[in-house]
Amino acid sequence: MASPIARVVSRAPVATCGTDAGYQRHRADGEPACPDCCAAHAAVNASRRARLAPEHPLQYRAALDGREPAEALTTADRARLVAELVARGWDVQRIAAHTRQTTYTTARIRDRLVAAGVTTPNLEERTA
Ligand SMILES: [Zn+2]
Repeated sequence: MASPIARVVSRAPVATCGTDAGYQRHRADGEPACPDCCAAHAAVNASRRARLAPEHPLQYRAALDGREPAEALTTADRARLVAELVARGWDVQRIAAHTRQTTYTTARIRDRLVAAGVTTPNLEERTA
């Protein structure tokens, strides 16, 4: 049996609130996640979605060109679209007009991406 000191040293650090690990701890403990953990978890999910290639490339291209509204896209593709337009240096007003979303929705998606540290989509994955 390990000594008490070894057990203390080998114990995993407690996941702190305001992180995705904190969110997972709340879930594992069978309790609702606090708002800070929910925000961190949403940011991680937004980051993952934005890094993936579009789920529906043709619809995505149409929305990127302003021919289709962003609401025709999946949640993941909409997040990617906003990330790509933010990377162009566009502000919320311009993105909202281009994608035919409300400024509220556009800002909400943009803020989630910023919180996740996503400022540019992964351009290498994009098919020309
Ligand atoms: Zn928490």
